[in-house]
Amino acid sequence: MTPTRPIWAEISRQKLIHNFRLLRQSAGAEAETVAVVKANAYGHGLEACARAMAENGARWFAVTCVEEAVTLRAVCAEQRILALSGVWPGEAEAVLEHGLTPSVWDVRHLELLEDAARQRGFSAGTVAVHLEIDTGMSRQGVQPENLEPLLARLGEGSPLRVEAVMTHFHSPDDGEATAGQMRQFATAVDTIVRSGIRPEFLSAGSSADVLSQTTGAVTDLARRIGARRMVRTGLSLYGYSPQRASTPGTPGYPPHSGIGAELDPVLAWKARISGLREIEAGTRAGYGGTFTARRRTRLALLPAGYADGLSRLLSNQGWVLVRGQRAPVAGRVSMDQTMVDVTEIAGAAVGDEAVLIGEQGAERVTAADLAELTGTIPYEMLCAIAPRVARVMVE
Ligand SMILES: *Cc1c(COP(=O)(O)O)cnc(C)c1O
Repeated sequence: MTPTRPIWAEISRQKLIHNFRLLRQSAGAEAETVAVVKANAYGHGLEACARAMAENGARWFAVTCVEEAVTLRAVCAEQRILALSGVWPGEAEAVLEHGLTPSVWDVRHLELLEDAARQRGFSAGTVAVHLEIDTGMSRQGVQPENLEPLLARLGEGSPLRVEAVMTHFHSPDDGEATAGQMRQFATAVDTIVRSGIRPEFLSAGSSADVLSQTTGAVTDLARRIGARRMVRTGLSLYGYSPQRASTPGTPGYPPHSGIGAELDPVLAWKARISGLREIEAGTRAGYGGTFTARRRTRLALLPAGYADGLSRLLSNQGWVLVRGQRAPVAGRVSMDQTMVDVTEIAGAAVGDEAVLIGEQGAERVTAADLAELTGTIPYEMLCAIAPRVARVMVE
């Protein structure tokens, strides 16, 4: 059955393409831009988003894992697909079969891939991998002291070829921390080049780096070894700037160059009012009765709850837009439903569109606003929108 519950997310093709072009341009002609579409394109819908960008010149995508990569391969036959989380047992075959490009940093990754490649008769240097270096984030990537043994394995005869050396900056807003990671990266790159490996790309920098253009050092390093820079942009493709996710007043956040301000949020989240009721002053609403009407109050019911990804932390503090006005959340967000106060909104009626994220009239509410209200980041807000909310591609 096609979705009939009146809650959906509209994904704007034009806005996505606008952001994609802006970021590619901002990264510079020399750089290769990887469009990060992991986690269902940050909740926007993997296949439709990737297809739209592919039609507009995207050559590289990055996803979380091999499983997501296989899904993407079905709609993007030509593009390169990077899997960011290494290789787990049972995935090496799919990497080879679908021409995927895994990140690797552990000897287990090499073993899984090499075994599968040899079984299939792949010759030396035919399976591209991106070698990740842990330069200070301490999450994944080979630690510098383990680099040489790994390189020894990748020597003569391995079916694997290090196409890129990659790393990830943990605090792109903190110049000193990033400079420290850059020094580690440069040392690792030198070691790799000395071992005889000639990577085509140095892959470093996410949305924050591209928007604030603070890591030109990667470009310089790439030039020095005859490679090109690769950047991996995710959040900004969807119209948000990671800086906006900071706690207001956090020192050290440089303002963006003009680019961040030109990003356009791609996703609009909507539902239709499914019920209306008036309650007397003193009447309570929702679980725990945490909302008490201070006057005769008109409540609108929305088919949107925390199971749809509307955070329960928005209870009594978020708002939605109805008829171009703000309707505050009244009471607790429940699993499948939420009430909003429409007392001030003349003419609010069953069937009206309510905007949970997006614009209506002169008002707007963004994933960044909701993130601020709930103590999280726009990334989480967007990824939280549940699969049961239909994604609809609009122009
Ligand atoms: C998610 C991710 C990115 C993209 O980060 P954004 O801040 O969304 O641009 C880049 N590189 C790696 C390794 C990631 O995991």
